[in-house]
Amino acid sequence: MSQPLTDRHNRVHRSLRISIVDKCDLRCTYCMPEDQHFLKREELMTREEVTTIARLFVERYGVSKIRLTGGEPLVRPDAVDIVRDMAQLGVSLGLTTNALSLHKHLDGLNDAGLKSINISLDTFDAERFRKITRRDGFDTVHANIMLALQRGLRVKVNMVVMRGLNDDELLRFVELTRDHDIHVRFIEFMPFAGNHWGRERVYTYAEMLGHIGSVHSFEKLTDDPHSTAKAYRVPDWKGTFAVISTVTEPFCGNCDRLRITAEGKMRNCLFAREETDLLSALRRGEDIAPLIEANVLGKHAMLGGLPQFKPEKQEEVLHDLSARPMVSIGG
Ligand code: SAM
Ligand code: SF4
Repeated sequence: MSQPLTDRHNRVHRSLRISIVDKCDLRCTYCMPEDQHFLKREELMTREEVTTIARLFVERYGVSKIRLTGGEPLVRPDAVDIVRDMAQLGVSLGLTTNALSLHKHLDGLNDAGLKSINISLDTFDAERFRKITRRDGFDTVHANIMLALQRGLRVKVNMVVMRGLNDDELLRFVELTRDHDIHVRFIEFMPFAGNHWGRERVYTYAEMLGHIGSVHSFEKLTDDPHSTAKAYRVPDWKGTFAVISTVTEPFCGNCDRLRITAEGKMRNCLFAREETDLLSALRRGEDIAPLIEANVLGKHAMLGGLPQFKPEKQEEVLHDLSARPMVSIGG
């Protein structure tokens, strides 16, 4: 019998994001600071340590969903092996990737048992792609999204929408759902250390729906109770789209997510400022269960204890942010 991980606000946590590496083959401006330093290999969880920690969450605490992320998970040489290990835990398994090297790994990932993949793409313009990610790669990423679909993977495409940078491409992304069974997710630009966030750069959920609605009629779909995304569909189109409105309409009341960083630190919120070092305790041979339970109990009601992301709170938010950039948290 598993013992559910319940926080002091009575939320039960059944979903775990595990970052397996903090390095990345892109350097997105909204995610990775210019002067980012990376962990040394011996500081990362080994494949066996990832499995030990994940198994504890699944078998003891009833975690039923695991998503592997990074940095870029596919830059880790044993990424496919870790996917296989996670698939054997019998959970609903996902992987979030920038898809730059996905073509090299698709056979392995299929064989390892991966069924669902989230791919990040913020623009259909190759030059703009270079500006946002500080690297070339649009054609490869676009081709790899199509390849993943052909191989029968369930594909979600994540677009971070930033005012004045790519908000003019929303309709192009919605168009993707006309003929493809793709789930596009528009993500409000969120504040993290070193990512030049400003409330004025957030293209809001309300603006997105207004923009799309000026051209297409669409219908609301029923969301999963723990979903972070509000889902919609243009009637008769094959795919769906959704908005992740963390900034203007946070969904913390239903949150069931926990996170582990690549160096084995547990975080109970994307915006958490407190972390629990599970890996060092594990390496000392200690029981990490009490650490996990204490970490969950400490979860704040909303946004890791940050003030809501209202324009008048901007200075406070920027001052209080965790020192960790998104690339080393794992989205
Ligand atoms: N490298 C992989 C990728 O890009 O998909 C996985 C890691 S990335 C940190 C996970 C997700 O976080 C991506 O979909 C990315 O677009 C999103 N993300 C990163 N920084 C963000 C920000 N400031 N606001 C909103 N989403 C962000
Ligand atoms: Fe790398 Fe993903 Fe962050 Fe871009 S969003 S820098 S691809 S980790």
